[in-house]
Amino acid sequence: QGKAYMFMMRTRQPSGLVPNRLYLVMDDLADQYGNGTLRLTTRQAYQLHGVLKHDLKTVFSSVIKNMGSTLGACGDVNRNVMGPAAPYLDKPEYMIAQKVANDVADLLAPQSGAYYDMWLDGEKFMSMYKEDPKVTADRAFNGFGTNFENSPEPIYGAQFLPRKFKVAVTVPGDNSVDLFTNDLGIIVIMDEEKKELKGFNIVVGGGLGRTHRDNDTYARLAEPLGYVDKDDIFHAVKAIVAAQRDYGRRDNRKQARLKYLVSEWGIDRFRSVTEQYFGKKFGEYVPMPEWEYKDYMGWGEQGDGKLFYGLYVQNGRIKGEQKKAMRAVIEKFNLPVTLTPHQNIILRDVLPENKDEIMAMLKAGGVQELMDWDSLDRMSMACPALPLCGLAVTEAERTMGDINKRIRALLDKVGVDAETQLIVRMTGCPNGCARPYMAELGFVGDGPNSYQIYLGGNANQTRLAELYADRVKIKDLESFLEPILAAWWTNRRPSEGFGDWTARVGFPAVKQLAAAAKPA
Ligand code: SF4
Repeated sequence: QGKAYMFMMRTRQPSGLVPNRLYLVMDDLADQYGNGTLRLTTRQAYQLHGVLKHDLKTVFSSVIKNMGSTLGACGDVNRNVMGPAAPYLDKPEYMIAQKVANDVADLLAPQSGAYYDMWLDGEKFMSMYKEDPKVTADRAFNGFGTNFENSPEPIYGAQFLPRKFKVAVTVPGDNSVDLFTNDLGIIVIMDEEKKELKGFNIVVGGGLGRTHRDNDTYARLAEPLGYVDKDDIFHAVKAIVAAQRDYGRRDNRKQARLKYLVSEWGIDRFRSVTEQYFGKKFGEYVPMPEWEYKDYMGWGEQGDGKLFYGLYVQNGRIKGEQKKAMRAVIEKFNLPVTLTPHQNIILRDVLPENKDEIMAMLKAGGVQELMDWDSLDRMSMACPALPLCGLAVTEAERTMGDINKRIRALLDKVGVDAETQLIVRMTGCPNGCARPYMAELGFVGDGPNSYQIYLGGNANQTRLAELYADRVKIKDLESFLEPILAAWWTNRRPSEGFGDWTARVGFPAVKQLAAAAKPA
């Protein structure tokens, strides 16, 4: 009898799309082999915590045999590809974005059969995707097909990538995927007259992970690389990945993400090297409207006569009676779901006549209605941290609800109304899984019950927050934060958000105004 090693399993879920059967299987696996809870991640996937080593094969093979996968969910390869969770069947740009996310996930999936050898004893369950002519025809969607070579690892080569690689796909104006935090961001550009796909804008070089006391590591936003026509997107993706494969640093894992290569070279040199792999020049980045951060919560119409319901899940953790109620609804009405980049879930394909019964079942199971949640909770995110993540130095998920209550009390005290939004994010280490460096108020664990404080992110997730203070003890939250919030509320411009205010006036002024606002 060996030691009872415990593992976390993460799934691969492009655009967060989950078939009904897979939801039910994941729900069962959490009870039978996990810790009885389901965790939705900030990259639209599941994490199953507490899986024992001797159960791994059963759990993995159950996922694979029920239309799921974990291939590429971890390691120095492309990770789960994000896509807008919007369930709008009547908006072709959204359908294209989800399709492209799925195809990029396939394109960049490791080709080795080792995955199936390991978990399915060599049974090639997933190979049906490559052999089914209907699926192949579907892949050639709108005239851009993928070119899957047959050689082992045609893109990754023998050494795979220097480090993990993250991709998100979206449509102009919809930044629900936190586009600029990815190594590669792809934006669907439509021909507005013909109402059909034209091409794609591309951004590269984003990433949030950093290391405390190592100033050579930093969070960075992706920047525009250019535009490609629709037929060229997969060649462009391969060229970008190949440039990172061949020039990304392999001597230092802390400097191995694409963001450091783009930063060191500058975007122009990176573009010209990538063009050599691509075989042509990138076009001019197409102008786009302002970005908005959307979460698709509450009831809405899908565009095919059916409804969707975006359900808020606090910190992505589905547990207890609420887990049972959600399962009962999803099972009874045979609903597929979408996991959102904000760790929430969207129930899809709801027949209008079932809406009231669904709400009654959720209510009876204690699933809190959206309007009952504080907007602070709705807009905040925390990573799992202690006790589930080996890298955590302090709490995040377990303390976020309490922190939000304390922040709400401070907001009330300084006179901020309940409608004014504030985006708070918290992680248990500087890796930044819950993207705290994009928040208006970010907490990054730097010791037991101690956090770095980041300020200055904005509501549409297009500006990096900056380090404001180190080693703030959570017990001192009130004395630290109240003067800053009071200074914002007194000195802001009409409707100016907290992040916009701190970024506009600058940290020296924030400190000065906070000192003046301090109660005597
Ligand atoms: Fe773990 Fe750090 Fe990621 Fe939180 S941010 S889940 S502590 S690696």
